[in-house]
Amino acid sequence: MNPTRRACLRASAALAAASSMPWLAGCAEFGPGDLPGSLAYRPKGVRGIALRDGVARTEIGSTIVTSLRDGSATMPLDESFVPGVPLAQVRQALDDAGLRGASITIPFTAFVVERRDRRMLLDAGNGRFGAPGSGLLLANLRDAGIDPASIHDVLITHFHGDHINGLRDADGKLAFPNATIHVPQPEWDWWMDDARMRASPAAMRGAFEATRRVFGSIAADVRRFAPGADALPGIASIPAYGHTPGHTGFGFEDGGHRFAYLGDVTNIAPLFLRHPDWAVRFDMDPEAARRTRRSLLDQAVAGNWVVAGFHWPGSAMGRVARRGSGYEFAPLVP
Ligand SMILES: [Zn+2]
Repeated sequence: MNPTRRACLRASAALAAASSMPWLAGCAEFGPGDLPGSLAYRPKGVRGIALRDGVARTEIGSTIVTSLRDGSATMPLDESFVPGVPLAQVRQALDDAGLRGASITIPFTAFVVERRDRRMLLDAGNGRFGAPGSGLLLANLRDAGIDPASIHDVLITHFHGDHINGLRDADGKLAFPNATIHVPQPEWDWWMDDARMRASPAAMRGAFEATRRVFGSIAADVRRFAPGADALPGIASIPAYGHTPGHTGFGFEDGGHRFAYLGDVTNIAPLFLRHPDWAVRFDMDPEAARRTRRSLLDQAVAGNWVVAGFHWPGSAMGRVARRGSGYEFAPLVP
């Protein structure tokens, strides 16, 4: 056994034991010349293809994952974006990534997983309630040849508007009329608590109202799952609390490869993957979010996962490697 594989197995077994998620155990087989942990490494059987602007397709074993851009939002950059971090340091980190400027752009990307005759959408995008330049998911789905009526399941990471408002179309009707919607139970419990909504500050009121606008009339049909259990057969759910109280990722294995969709475990990559101890202002429990970020990204590096993030660049799925005290992301399709 080569030393890299031995180290990987050791790290992976420890992480699997600590995480109580047995599907995390094990490592891909590495041939000579492969460099797990480096961004140059491409797992065999994982291939990303650009289809058109905003749409890319990746094969992971026999599973197909399609990245579908829901546009982006641009906002002025000020000290409130990364609380507790001097604005000059935030600017420097953006400069380092070639993103100089007085504003910040946050991309949005949802994913369709096609596996075992099921079509599953991971997060639903902004719909008609997002910033100008967002809400493109339905158009990109059609461009990719995917009929929204053909989606069997929608899996939601958390209840922020950029992830749930797209469950409704421009007329307020269900955008994926034949899909079962699956949400993490603790996320539902937190947001759908009317007493909590009444006691919340005015700035939070819009977020609570969005959850009722989206889910209110279909509450009885929304399936709530316990994070850590399979969300669907062969699709694991990954507790990833901190960004929101019930924030949850999703993953599967195919052909010896492991995929994990990490939702908003980090906001934009040049700030929060490179500096995982920084917490974006949308992180509701910044300390828990930091711990979750480190834990899941360490597991992703150790296990050579193919990872995806809702606010990451390019096709928003690829690989992470350690860099300095943080991480670096390389999308499979830039
Ligand atoms: Zn988000």
